[in-house]
Order: sequence, then C-alpha cells, then structure tokens
Amino acid sequence: MSKNRIAPLAINPRVLDLPFIEVPLFLAFRHIFFRFVTYSQIETYLCISMKLLIVEDEDGLRGTIISFLEEVGYQCEDATQLGMALNKVNDYEYDCVLVDIGLPDGNGLQLIREIKKIAPTTGVLVISARNSLDDKITGLELGADDYLAKPFHLAELNARVKSILRRVKYDGKIEVNIERLRILPESRQVFCDDEAIVLTKKEFDLLAFFVANANRVLTKESIAEHLWGDLADAADTFDFVYSQIKNLRRKLLDKTSIDYLKNLYGIGYMFQTDRG
Ligand code: CA
Repeated sequence: MSKNRIAPLAINPRVLDLPFIEVPLFLAFRHIFFRFVTYSQIETYLCISMKLLIVEDEDGLRGTIISFLEEVGYQCEDATQLGMALNKVNDYEYDCVLVDIGLPDGNGLQLIREIKKIAPTTGVLVISARNSLDDKITGLELGADDYLAKPFHLAELNARVKSILRRVKYDGKIEVNIERLRILPESRQVFCDDEAIVLTKKEFDLLAFFVANANRVLTKESIAEHLWGDLADAADTFDFVYSQIKNLRRKLLDKTSIDYLKNLYGIGYMFQTDRG
C-alpha cells in the first residue's frame, strides 16, 4: 500500500515444526493475528492530530523534545542531518518543522528555503543555539514562523508550536466556524449551534485534518499516513480509514443535517464547505 510497506509477521511455519496439514490453518491464523495486532496498535495511536518533524543533531536534546511533544499528543518524526531532513520534507507532509540551524552536513537555513518552496503551508520554528541576530533575521526572512534560542523551556516550545499551528493551519483563529459547526481545536470540542457533537479522539483528528484541508481532495493514503503514520504502511487494507470516516460523517450528519464529507470514488474524500 505504500513505499515503506512492512512484511506482516514474517514467521515461517516450519520453524514451529507444524505438521503439514496444519500449515494452511496456521497461515489463516497468522493473517487474523496480524490484523488484530495492527488494528490494536493503530488504536493506541489516539493522540495524533498534527505531524511534526524535529531536525536536531544533538541526541539528548532531540530525545527530550520528542518525548515531550509526543506526550502532548503530536506525532513526531526526526532527522539528525540536513540531507535527511531535505529528503523527509520532499517525501512527506508535515504540519510544522522544528529546524536547528547548525547541522553537521550544512545549514538549517537551506531547509527553510526548501520547505517554503515545496510546502508553503508548513509551519517552521527555528531552534538555534546561535544567538546571532543574522541567523534569526535570515530565518524569518526566508519564511520561518518563529525563532526560539537554546536553551529554552519545553513549555515555551509547546506554546510556540501551538501558536504556529493555529496561525498556519487555522488562519489564526482559535475557533473555526463552518456553517452550523463550531470547532475548538485547542480543547478538541465540536458543536452544532450550541449542542456538543461527541467525537472520539481519532474522529476529532480526522475532522481537524479535513477542516485544515477544506475543499481539497484528500486521498485515502494521505489520510491513513497523516492519522496513523508509519503504522498505516503495515496495514493491508484501508478498512480502518473507511470506518473512521463513516462514523465521523454519520455523527456530523445526525446533528447538522449537512453531509460535509464527499466521497470521490476511487480518488479520496473532500470536506466540502463551499456548496456554491
Ligand atoms: Ca546543532
């Protein structure tokens, strides 16, 4: 299903010394077991809403930032070198990239230039030990959204990332209003007029992803990758995407009587706010 497909539980039945007659049964069981393992792993990824790339070559600092941001609920990926980071931003979409300027194989400013060229709606936060005013000014001139000098408090980092995401993804609004829908990204609440629509975390993440990309077609692959990350690569069907979309669509339709989610058969889905 994607370029990074992982072979599902590559266990050789011979290793377990099963009698020949039991091999088909074993394979059937393995298939069911694999699906169970994948689905339960996928369900543990409940906090994913925004995907971040942390580009930092100091191992200790990178580890600290990632564990903190993952605890907050972000999906984090990392790169330790400029080349690696350039490949990642070319291959995947991120909501925000944290860029260290001094990298072993080059200058982080080159990465900012590339991100703003290929993905202008991706937020960029410069995290740099260099307190040089030049780096700060150049970074911001290249389109970085903010600058944080090391050392910094993790709470400060979180506040800056949040504010960038709010600005970049929600156009600076803390509350998103779409017809009768009112979405509060920070408290993760959704209302139809004044009545709450109760969503699971995953359904909320899905809604947030759709709203941030309103009136754009999202392929099932991009939805799976955004919400489930690398785990989506290991799954052999898109059933988990379909079932989450079906539930979200039903809940929104029940309360608003508006069918926001348009299914473009064979292509993907679109959250439609412009019915012109
Ligand atoms: Ca560095």
